[in-house]
Amino acid sequence: MANFTPQPSCADAHEPNSLTVSQATQRITDRVSPITRSESRPLRESLDYVLDEDIISPINVPPHNNSAMDGYAIHGADISGDCFSLTQVGVAFAGQPFSGTINRGECIRIMTGAMMPDECDTVIMQEHVEVSDSLITIHGQHRQGQNVRLAGEDLTKGDIVLNAGHKISPADLGLIASLGIAELVVKQKLKVAFFSTGDELRSLGEQLEPGQIYDSNRYTLHGMLSHLNVDIIDLGVVADQKQALREALQHASQQADVVLTTGGVSVGDADYVKEMLEELGQVDFWKIAMKPGRPLAFGTINDTLFFGLPGNPVSVMVTFYQFVQPALQNLSGEHAPLQQLMQVNCISPIRKRAGRFEFQRGILFQNEQGITQVKTTGEQGSGILRSMSIANCFILLDEQCDGIEPNTLVTVQPFSGLI
Ligand code: AMP
Ligand code: MG
Repeated sequence: MANFTPQPSCADAHEPNSLTVSQATQRITDRVSPITRSESRPLRESLDYVLDEDIISPINVPPHNNSAMDGYAIHGADISGDCFSLTQVGVAFAGQPFSGTINRGECIRIMTGAMMPDECDTVIMQEHVEVSDSLITIHGQHRQGQNVRLAGEDLTKGDIVLNAGHKISPADLGLIASLGIAELVVKQKLKVAFFSTGDELRSLGEQLEPGQIYDSNRYTLHGMLSHLNVDIIDLGVVADQKQALREALQHASQQADVVLTTGGVSVGDADYVKEMLEELGQVDFWKIAMKPGRPLAFGTINDTLFFGLPGNPVSVMVTFYQFVQPALQNLSGEHAPLQQLMQVNCISPIRKRAGRFEFQRGILFQNEQGITQVKTTGEQGSGILRSMSIANCFILLDEQCDGIEPNTLVTVQPFSGLI
């Protein structure tokens, strides 16, 4: 695959040679094509999988005209003024159709979902009917054809019901079941491997020596990946040593479609990720005019996609959400879902300089009038993971924005369950 040369951009006068967020997104999109591995799965085990075939309706849904109400099936032509009588000659239940003949002036009792007799085209709700033995008297205004669900009104035989590339939701499971389809051809799950880099990192259960911290990035990554339908391969912590990194990257790339690392992509003396990636594969290293999450390495090792995320815990989550998640969606074959953005009033003042895109952590809430507004979580340092924990959205402040006065309309990206 061709290597990208980061092009100078005017994204930020203070940070020459940096890409804008949308340029970086575009470059990743250009590089990713959907996996071709597919498999057949039972319907019930296909939730959150991506369809690899169109679902075409083999039948009409509903398969027959049926009653939308509990009441009486009549000849519409018998409707006469706002009070008329008919003779009841039978009953139809859901699953037990009436098999006799219904002449003009006659009707049957019919339950919701029961098949309409051929002769009848109209259902009168039982609330509008007075019953005296087999004679029923109908009151009120009625319209021919009312309260009947027509065959094929939901889906017609031969319709494309869902397209390849659609991710199966609970509603889809029901929809597909209503067609009588028990097996689906779906894309296989992606395999995503990740490890943290840093000599200072210790895993949970280990004793912290001076200068050491617990590794939190593997936990946030594990959490975010768990909300996507992927196989997760956690490869632990890797030291800031070239050989250790080389081996870890080789090992990871051999077993995964995507490898994620955190840390070691800056310009510090122990930041070897970029160098190792250059040796093993192809690398684009970007400074992105964004905050947080400025450095990002992206590339390939053989057929495996690689994302070297920054080390700071908030930067990891922001870059995952903005770049890795959409790439995983593309790779999984899922059609790009609509971005869920909202415009709401921000009650906090926000200081910002023009030039880079900021993803401030925000809290969407409802004021006393029930109107949705947003405020910032306060301190926005890229190491302050608590700000992600209490936030439920990003406040998107684009390159041009140079600060927000209280009560200004801002664009907000709700976390929608992933973070
Ligand atoms: P680096 O990009 O490797 O220089 O890391 C930037 C900052 O993020 C440093 O303060 C690191 O200690 C911190 N950091 C890196 N990786 C992790 C991690 N897995 N968990 C928590 N903090 C981390
Ligand atoms: Mg480091």
